[in-house]
Amino acid sequence: ISGITAIVGRPNVGKSTIFNRMIGERKSIVEDTPGVTRDRVYAKAEWLTKEFRIIDTGGIQLDNQPFKEEIQMQVDIALEEADSIVFVVSGIDGVTKDDEYIASLLRKTKKPVILAVNKIDDTQLQANIYEFYSLGIGEPIAVSGVHGIGIGDVLDSIIDSF
Ligand code: GDP
Ligand code: MG
Repeated sequence: ISGITAIVGRPNVGKSTIFNRMIGERKSIVEDTPGVTRDRVYAKAEWLTKEFRIIDTGGIQLDNQPFKEEIQMQVDIALEEADSIVFVVSGIDGVTKDDEYIASLLRKTKKPVILAVNKIDDTQLQANIYEFYSLGIGEPIAVSGVHGIGIGDVLDSIIDSF
């Protein structure tokens, strides 16, 4: 195992879709406690002969949990368990206040942060990625989790981050 990476981001940006793409399996949802949605959270992945682990930190959600608490939980898991972080945002929504809040937390860590701009489903949306430079996280990578576009670029960056 060459390292562990953690996927973080606000709800609905496509974290689980990207996670599932990277592990190449279908998502399995297990609901064992009422009020808790537990998607598959930890998985092994392989890329370019390297084996690593991925955590979908959004995979455990409590009902009615305030946004800041949920994000803090995600970031805490990432900082404790991962060597690098994949920060997912939505290229359809553009930069939101919640993205800026998450970026402010992630800018404090010394761990490498990879910025994945998801929902770039076709080339016309490509120009939407540039506004994400304003988050101060670095170069945005265009991704479409649904169509499997750009996933290889994110995987390359993950391998480089270890
Ligand atoms: P999460 O809450 O961050 O884990 O997000 P999900 O992976 O559950 O996805 C949230 C919604 O966004 C779902 O309806 C997905 O189908 C949709 N979605 C995910 N990736 C993409 C994408 O690349 N393009 C588009 N158009 N929709 C996407
Ligand atoms: Mg999810």
